[in-house]
Amino acid sequence: MLGKSPAWQDANGACSGYLVEGGGQVVLLDCGPGVFAKLRTVVGYEAVDAVLITHLHADHILDLVPFASGLRYRPWDGPPPRPRLIAPPGAAEAFASVCSGAGMTADHLELAFDLTLYDPAQALVVGGLEVRFQPVPHYIPANAVELTDGAGRFTFGADCGPSEELIAFADGTDLLMLEATLPEPEPPDDRGHLTPFEAGEHAARANAKRLVLTHFTEDLGRDWVLSEAARAFAGPVDAAQEGAIYDLSR
Ligand SMILES: [Zn+2]
Ligand SMILES: [Zn+2]
Repeated sequence: MLGKSPAWQDANGACSGYLVEGGGQVVLLDCGPGVFAKLRTVVGYEAVDAVLITHLHADHILDLVPFASGLRYRPWDGPPPRPRLIAPPGAAEAFASVCSGAGMTADHLELAFDLTLYDPAQALVVGGLEVRFQPVPHYIPANAVELTDGAGRFTFGADCGPSEELIAFADGTDLLMLEATLPEPEPPDDRGHLTPFEAGEHAARANAKRLVLTHFTEDLGRDWVLSEAARAFAGPVDAAQEGAIYDLSR
């Protein structure tokens, strides 16, 4: 768990970023503000094989800019590493406008990373990891993602409002990580996030073996977040802590 804050970081926190190791791969899942520095406390960024992006909101992508700078400008012995950057449709244009609007060249990210645009309807293979996607309700196109190396199955709901499709997608998963952004539900016609209680309901209906809540501000109160989810989900539930590690290999 590198970063679990919502769109604004907690003190000393980071926005969305999760490091997944499996199938011989080191994969960074989302790369929000603050995540690059947190990543470097755990592993050298040259060790990252792929960065996988759920959606193009700022709190999930902005640290791709310093990550790319580190790849391009650090003096390397030999050619710099070139991790894969696996991003949703529209990412090339979004990355170009973020970079050019911030004084970089428009191709800053594409010069640093090997960019692949994924089709959420298609599964992917990243080394020994299988990756599947499920579009979820949000304010812009967003995709839940599942990574499995055959030994453990990890499902991340991305940013999402209530979703029957997500429940089916996550059915029986070993670890379901769901956002728990809201203190109370938004108006029914404007859903793009979950409350912790709703996250618990989704985990229960998906028969998840474990639930980890993320994308919540500490202002909500960690105890409240946990207790709300536990009202709906009887299995093990944690509120994400930066630095926490979950081992699904056993
Ligand atoms: Zn979002
Ligand atoms: Zn977000």
